[in-house]
Parts: sequence; C-alpha cells; structure tokens
Amino acid sequence: MYRVYNFSAGPSMLPLPVLEKAAGELVSYKDSGMSVMEMSHRSPVYEGIIAETQELLRKLLNIPANYKVLFMQGGASTQFAAVPFNLLNGSGKADYIVTGQFSKKAYEEAKKYGDIKLVASSEDKNNTYIPQLTKADFRADADYVHICFNNTIYGTKFNYIPDTGDVPLVADMSSCILSEPVDVTKFGLIYAGAQKNVAPAGLTIVIVREDLIGKSRPDTPIMFDYKTMADNDSMYNTPPCYPIYIAKLVFEWLLELGGLEAMKKINEAKAKVLYDYLDSTDYYIAPVEKAYRSMMNITFVTGVEDLDKKFAKEAEKAGFVNIKGHRSVGGMRASIYNAMPLEGVEKLVEFMKEFAKNNPKEGK
Ligand SMILES: *Cc1c(COP(=O)(O)O)cnc(C)c1O
Repeated sequence: MYRVYNFSAGPSMLPLPVLEKAAGELVSYKDSGMSVMEMSHRSPVYEGIIAETQELLRKLLNIPANYKVLFMQGGASTQFAAVPFNLLNGSGKADYIVTGQFSKKAYEEAKKYGDIKLVASSEDKNNTYIPQLTKADFRADADYVHICFNNTIYGTKFNYIPDTGDVPLVADMSSCILSEPVDVTKFGLIYAGAQKNVAPAGLTIVIVREDLIGKSRPDTPIMFDYKTMADNDSMYNTPPCYPIYIAKLVFEWLLELGGLEAMKKINEAKAKVLYDYLDSTDYYIAPVEKAYRSMMNITFVTGVEDLDKKFAKEAEKAGFVNIKGHRSVGGMRASIYNAMPLEGVEKLVEFMKEFAKNNPKEGK
C-alpha cells in the first residue's frame, strides 16, 4: 500500500498500527455487530470505550485525581472563548503571553470578556523565541495566565514552565501534547485539539483542576461550561464518538511503546537528525533560537523564495508531503509528530542534501 511521509502540521499522520487496527474493527467493533461510528453513545459498549479512553490518558500523563478530563468539541479555537467564560470569574483579569498566531487569537478572543493584559510577546523577532518571565511579571490578582506551550506555525516551544505563583496557568498544548511527559500539577488547565498528536479532528481534550470548575460566568453557553461536561462525563450531548475511539487506540499504542518517556526519547532522536543537519549546512537556515526549538514543528528556509517553492514542489513529488511553511510565514515546516517514524526524517534529510546539491544558490 502506498503511504507518503506526511509532514502536515494538522490534521497529521496517525500511527500505521492504529489505522490498521481501526480498519480491522471498522465494520464491526469486537462482537457488537456494528461500527463504533454507528453506536449509541449511551450503549454499554460505547460507555466502556469512553471510560477506558479517559483511563488511558490519565495513566499516560499521570493526571492527578483532582483534575477532570473532558472530551469536548469545537477545536482548540473554541477553548479560546471557553477559557475566559469559565475562568474569568474573580477579578476579571487575565494575563496572556503571545508567542505566535494561536496565542494571539486566544488573546484577541479573551479581550471581549474582561481586563486582558498582554504581558509579553515575541512578535518583535517574528516569534523566533520565547520570552523569559518570572512571577513578578504577572498580576497577582489575575484569574489566570494563558500561554501556548508549542507554537505550531513558528516552531518554538517553551523551555520552561512560567512560575505564576497562585494564579492558575492555562496552556494550549495542541501541537505537543503526549510528545513527552509533562507535570500536570504545574497547570490549572491544559487543552489540546486532537488532530496533531491524538486523533482525527473533532475532539478537543481539556484537563482542568477541579477547583476551577463550577464558577463560570452566568452567560456561559451550556456547551462551553466545564461543569456541564464534568457532571455528565463528557456526554451531556453526543460526543465525537469516533475520534474518541481513535484516541483510545493511539493511547494504547503509546503505552505499548513504553509511555511518554519512551516517546520523548524517540522524538528527541527524530528532531536531532533534522536539527543536526540544519546546523551543519549553510544552505538551509533554521530561524528559531536554539533554546526554544520545537521538537514537533521544525521550520527552515533556503533564503531564496523561488528555491523554497521549488523545494516544496519537488519534496511533494518525492513523497514528502505538506512540507510548505504556513502561508503567513513561508519557507518550510516539517511537522514530525509522534506518528512520524525516524525513517521519515532520515529520508527527508537525504532529500534535502540532494536538493541542495542540485540547486546551488547564485554566487555560491
Ligand atoms: C492547530 C492549533 C490550534 C487550532 O486548533 P483547532 O482545533 O483547529 O481550533 C490552536 N492552537 C495550537 C497550538 C494549534 O497547533
């Protein structure tokens, strides 16, 4: 069967064993006689699936008992509003760090609902770094602080967890969740759209400390309210049944691999292959400051726009697809999420070497 190396930033690759398992169970799940897609979400079989999915995620991320796991919809972008609706309930103040387009969107959305402060931004250097902040930078009476932990478009990642004191830290982890272990207790709330590292689009994971639930603004839409979701085990209405089932298969795949410590080692090895090459050549330029390099989204340019275009085109033909940078940034971006095998990155580097040899830059 023909499978390309898909470097898409999202929706992105799923592990082949997961797709194969899903294919085997597509028409009839176990002995139910029906597809998971066709099941009532209130059936005992499906209730088993969703409960197990949550258990597996708790195990993988070592989520403490005082945190709820919610399976929501609307993507990470819906959380840009859901977070202020639920959490902006004390002083009405929240502090945002803007390190890319998604955190900027989150900031703009929150501004509709309260006193939102832009504490720091990396826009001055085209989002190629992460600002270093201390507790003194945040308002002590803020209801929360919001960050985007891994910046999908620019290829940066927080190399530290900001100390916000007693103010809950909220993190968009859409493009790095489950790529390595994370200390959940350092966060009040973590959210992630599933389509980067977890499952098909349609599922949004929210991990939220219990004391932050149940104090939403009175005008909160019921589907945005974490309390509605928590009280109904994410089944107030029909959940995204099939993406949740695929998430379960992905979690099983991760556990079989050895969990997130093992996944981290693999991801580090993959990223090293590409970064080592980028550091060894002056044909390609990696614009992100080294300390803030993402392990998941790796951006680079040739410095010549026409060559960047040619690169993306020829890569596509050679079976390395979706490697063009985000439309707002240009250049190239290789998203190497959990499901991308090491071999895919090694072969990409071989292709990059060939391309550099065959397309010398003028004057060189
Ligand atoms: C993809 C992405 C989003 C947007 O996710 P949707 O599910 O499409 O709303 C938000 N934040 C980050 C960090 C992302 O990578």
